[in-house]
Amino acid sequence: MTKKKPETKAIRTQTERSEQHEHSTPLFMTSSFVFDSAEHARALFAKEVEGNVYSRYSNPNTNEFEEKMCWLEGAEAGIATASGMSAIFSSLAGLLEQGDHVLACRSLFGSSHQILNGILPKWGINFSYGDIDNPENWESLIKEQTKVLFLETPSNPGLDLIDLEWAGELAEAHNLILIVDNCFATPYLQQPMKYGADIVLHSATKFIDGQGRGIGGVIVGKEKYIEEISFFTRHSGPALSPFNAWMFSKSLETLPARMDRHCDNALELATFLEEQQNVEWVKYPHLKSHPQYDLAKKQMKKGGGVVAFNISGGYQAATKFLDKLETLSLSANLGDTRTIATHPASTTHSKLTDEERAAVNITPGMIRIAVGLEAIEDIKQDIDQALG
Ligand SMILES: *Cc1c(COP(=O)(O)O)cnc(C)c1O
Repeated sequence: MTKKKPETKAIRTQTERSEQHEHSTPLFMTSSFVFDSAEHARALFAKEVEGNVYSRYSNPNTNEFEEKMCWLEGAEAGIATASGMSAIFSSLAGLLEQGDHVLACRSLFGSSHQILNGILPKWGINFSYGDIDNPENWESLIKEQTKVLFLETPSNPGLDLIDLEWAGELAEAHNLILIVDNCFATPYLQQPMKYGADIVLHSATKFIDGQGRGIGGVIVGKEKYIEEISFFTRHSGPALSPFNAWMFSKSLETLPARMDRHCDNALELATFLEEQQNVEWVKYPHLKSHPQYDLAKKQMKKGGGVVAFNISGGYQAATKFLDKLETLSLSANLGDTRTIATHPASTTHSKLTDEERAAVNITPGMIRIAVGLEAIEDIKQDIDQALG
């Protein structure tokens, strides 16, 4: 299998089959595994032999999902987690110690802000934010205690990009562990490990599941870091359910096909939105008007499945637009087959202060569209009538 493309490997890999010779991977819905003998149990616990013991540590379904994610991202090892946030928290908690400092990009998922702001400081771990439009400044934010560089690109919901090559060099020059939240791009569009990332994280809830069915996450990366994090996850217990792992693993088989359609629909919608009179601006990585268009072309195979735009008339116009939608769903998720419209300022990023939102361009009139797999004509038609 080693010579095959990652897409093919994600489809053709099956690590376990039962005596029934099923074509699709079976579901191993079990909390523990049976030992052949007392001696086998001892050897398993002593790690003298390989095998599953208890599903908080490993399970054939989670193992398969982790293995596929490693291939897709070009990583050495992985850990499946119960949510995207547990992937982020476990990585930081597993790698950092009291007194350490994190340098993070300011444009981050809402709950990631909460971890940096409200949770890690309880254990004496502090952070600084670097601004995307001011990369020259980041070096001056690095302290002796800085251990991790934590990024999200493209960012949720602002769709700002960070140059991964630049970030990889910065991390290397200052001996920082580079952690990238690759949730928006997925490994099909962008592989941060190629640029020197040490850890890549995902909310599997989004494009990896792709069908809005379950919460989950995954951490992949260099073996030495994954080992440190796995000490934390094995004993603190954010294990992914085998059922969700089975579902996500199956979903990876269609990831490239789904992403192509998400991206093609999103580009067409972004182009359409740019022509609308009451739309003030549109942000989409592969739209020529994106301030980082050249970078997006360089590091992302396609522009992704999310489009952001600002409606003229601010908050009131935004809520009016959302309430007029007929086909699109109002929801706080993304990466679903169904197109979803979200108002970040009043929902996903409502815990931020006005200043914090303004700093990452989350305006009162900003709408995030997570473009689904429906016929693009129907998506455009609904948005057109709601813009009215
Ligand atoms: C949704 C999301 C998360 C959190 O994932 P959950 O599965 O909801 O815990 C983290 N980062 C990004 C970029 C996200 O979009």
